[in-house]
Amino acid sequence: MKYCLHCDWSVGESDGLTATERSREALEHHVETGHAVDSSESMVRPDVPSLAASTLVADLLGSPE
Ligand SMILES: [Zn+2]
Repeated sequence: MKYCLHCDWSVGESDGLTATERSREALEHHVETGHAVDSSESMVRPDVPSLAASTLVADLLGSPE
């Protein structure tokens, strides 16, 4: 699927478009909004791994003496 890095826009195989059509949709979204569109092989929108992020924060905050 292709998805926007700035808003909720996305287009995937479940939308019934061909790869060419999805690429065109992504380009149109970029042209219309100036948003950056990224693509992923997965069917779901990738998220920042919250577990890793919270672990990192804990490491920064919890430095034992
Ligand atoms: Zn967007």
